[in-house]
Amino acid sequence: MKSQEIRSKFLSFFENKKHAIVPSAPMVLKDDPTLMFVNAGMVPFKEFFLGNAEPKNQRVTDTQKCLRVSGKHNDLEEVGYDTYHHTLFEMLGNWSFGDYFKEEAIAWAWELLTEVYGIDKDILYVTVFEGDDEDGLPMDSEAYDFWKKHISEDRILKGNKKDNFWEMGDQGPCGPCSEIHVDIRSAEEKAKIDGKDLVNMDHPQVVEIWNLVFIQFNRKANGSLESLPNKHIDTGMGFERLCMVLQGVQSNYDTDVFTPIIREVETITNKDYGKDEKVDIAIRVISDHVRAVAFSIADGQLPSNSGAGYVIRRILRRAVRYGFTFLDKKEPFIYRLVDVLSEKMGKAFPELKSQKQLIENVIKEEEQSFLRTLEQGLILLNRIVEETKDDIVSGEKAFELYDTYGFPIDLTSLILSEKGYTLDENGFKKELQKQKDRSRAASEMSTDDWTILIDDSDQEFIGYDTLEANVKITRYRKVTSKKEGDMYQLVFNLTPFYAEGGGQVGDKGYLEDAHGDVVYILDTKKENNVIIHFTKNLPEDINKTFKAVVDAKQRHRTECNHTATHLLHQALREVLGTHVEQKGSAVHSKYLRFDFSHFAKLTVEELRDVENFVNARIDGKLPLEEKRNIPMEEAIAEGAMALFGEKYGDTVRAVRFGQSVELCGGTHVKNTADIWHFKIVSEGAVAAGIRRIEAITNDAVKDFYHENNQAFFEMKDLLNNPKEPIKALQNLQEENTSLRKQIESLLKDKAKNIKRELKNELTNVNGIQFLAKKVDLDAAGIKDVAFELGNQFNNLFLLLGTEQNGKALLSCYISKDLVTNKQFNAVQVVRELGKYIQGGGGGQPFFATAGGKNPAGIEAALIAAQEFVK
Ligand code: ATP
Ligand code: MG
Repeated sequence: MKSQEIRSKFLSFFENKKHAIVPSAPMVLKDDPTLMFVNAGMVPFKEFFLGNAEPKNQRVTDTQKCLRVSGKHNDLEEVGYDTYHHTLFEMLGNWSFGDYFKEEAIAWAWELLTEVYGIDKDILYVTVFEGDDEDGLPMDSEAYDFWKKHISEDRILKGNKKDNFWEMGDQGPCGPCSEIHVDIRSAEEKAKIDGKDLVNMDHPQVVEIWNLVFIQFNRKANGSLESLPNKHIDTGMGFERLCMVLQGVQSNYDTDVFTPIIREVETITNKDYGKDEKVDIAIRVISDHVRAVAFSIADGQLPSNSGAGYVIRRILRRAVRYGFTFLDKKEPFIYRLVDVLSEKMGKAFPELKSQKQLIENVIKEEEQSFLRTLEQGLILLNRIVEETKDDIVSGEKAFELYDTYGFPIDLTSLILSEKGYTLDENGFKKELQKQKDRSRAASEMSTDDWTILIDDSDQEFIGYDTLEANVKITRYRKVTSKKEGDMYQLVFNLTPFYAEGGGQVGDKGYLEDAHGDVVYILDTKKENNVIIHFTKNLPEDINKTFKAVVDAKQRHRTECNHTATHLLHQALREVLGTHVEQKGSAVHSKYLRFDFSHFAKLTVEELRDVENFVNARIDGKLPLEEKRNIPMEEAIAEGAMALFGEKYGDTVRAVRFGQSVELCGGTHVKNTADIWHFKIVSEGAVAAGIRRIEAITNDAVKDFYHENNQAFFEMKDLLNNPKEPIKALQNLQEENTSLRKQIESLLKDKAKNIKRELKNELTNVNGIQFLAKKVDLDAAGIKDVAFELGNQFNNLFLLLGTEQNGKALLSCYISKDLVTNKQFNAVQVVRELGKYIQGGGGGQPFFATAGGKNPAGIEAALIAAQEFVK
């Protein structure tokens, strides 16, 4: 069965059981402080489990892009070495939000696997939670009894908390789970060892394929469990592992999900898969990683130096390293795999098709720059080896190479062993640990449980329409971090405060009680759809009603920048073409920043056209027309661009100014005229094929023009306020050029005279034409004179001193014949004489100079020079 069919059979099976099929949510998370990437199918539905939002359907099914490369789930180091862990993989899931529970979940999983897919019952094992004393939980006998109906009891295994109790994090929804394992070994192997004994033992052919999680508890901050009123089903089946089973192969990499990519790697690198274990590992690493990187870029996460971008960069670099070391690829090639990938997966994930060009460009550029790092690292490593006295290279040196230059440690150790050196690995680990401790100490944070004042999960955002409201605090908690000390997070029953999101900063403002006492709100953020206000203190009487007031000035400036961002987006597509797509944006009160796909630097004309386009719409006084809570289809009909940023269950808000329509949750001016004016202040590249524009509006433009004007008047003042300042400046420049020419020719004459003088003063000491003298020439002049004399005389030894701006300079010229035949060395001369002028220098054996801070010592140096020729 082809992978495409396997995927669609799963979805239609659950569709027949009344589940709504929903698309995969984006893999890169924007608004979640606890997680960078979706690492399990349940992540996009977190807010339903937490009770912060109501799902549209109680039964849902999907395939979700997951990435397990950081945090709690990190499989990165396994990938390539085994045959069934990936960085990016698809998790097939069926979901019940407070609807069906264990009985149906178990029965349907069994029906799908054994009847629809036709998997032989005799290769399946299931596990159930054995219970846990610490949590005071008994065995999950409900699950056991439901399983008993389908599978013989000797195939139901009991598992501990580690394998069979699933938790979202330190806090939050959790519950027991049942895993389904397959044993795909040969009959011969099975005869040797019972499959039961290999379940959960990391055997490559006895693997978990599906996990059914029964969410029935909530873990509180103090570690205790409470029962949830609504119980949920969360299941996740590894799509690639399922394909392995159904296609009768022994490795995920032998399924049609991977073979087309592997064939392409073979062609490009001229290596064969399946002949040499090291080559195989490298090919698996590359075939896996290109998927993770391509999907991330398609989701808008480019490789970068921090956060999620850095994780992506590291994945790509790992692939480059394996190609470099084991496949002998010293030039970029991974980007060439994007073609087959988008061909094969573009149907299920259209973003791979529409963004193909960008993905290729970004990967190629990253490959190039990391390959340069590798080359440089090799040079540095050679130097380290040369300086190493015994044959052990210190951990500190290797760490520096790793930390400062990004040179991978396993490569260091490989190269060292090839050269007959060893690496002090313990020393390296110590350095690494020290660094980890430093960063952990900086980011340590503790979060209390919420204190609930009013049990009310509906929180209304009213900040589109008003900046002030009477509010009640429904819950709060304390968060302590090393960096910021104690902070409080407050949730209100309703709020005018906009929470950071969609690139727009969170509102600031204050809470005021009846006595006029004020607590400042320093920032507003969203967590799992709840709007949280940050304060340094708690208000005194926390149960009272407060007036919540948004800082109107900051909000207005931010709104000007946000609306201008929409107009800028429209302008860029109009002026440059419809290939322009938004790749990131930051809307602050002081400026806006907009990243977009485009392949060349913008010309002056293009920048001017873009500015004019935006300003024409500001002059056009276009009113804000918004539609809140409309279904996606309606927004698209309005003319909004479909972005891959929405997830299932979202209704959207369409924001229109004239012909500009965007899906946007941000706040905007009521009329474009409010913006007053738009000005671009910079344009540049951020990555291959991605440009960035920074711009300002409103007050900031006024300040900008004011400052420029001020500078202009100061300049005019310096020119004595001429009637035509530009003409005056041009005159000044011309005058300057002609004076410069005159000076040059005067200096030439002077040098000529000095040369004549010096020639007359040469004395013959032991057959050497010798002169040591102080002259009034600059460094360049001295050099010219010395070389001209050198062309006229053999056996010349010249030492010239000069004083320039209170500093001393000695220059020594020695003819080549003296250097080769008599071992004279100008470098040695200036080093030795340098002590008279309190300085030092260097150069070449026939010409060297020394600078020093003691001009009074020049005379003594000139006298001492005679010693060299005597
Ligand atoms: P394992 O013990 O094999 O790492 P897990 O316990 O981490 O699996 P879950 O978190 O329960 O797995 O995820 C649900 C399913 O997703 C698994 O049953 C498996 O089929 C699949 N899966 C998990 N991690 C990966 C991975 N790194 N690559 C591919 N599939 C995976
Ligand atoms: Mg795992």
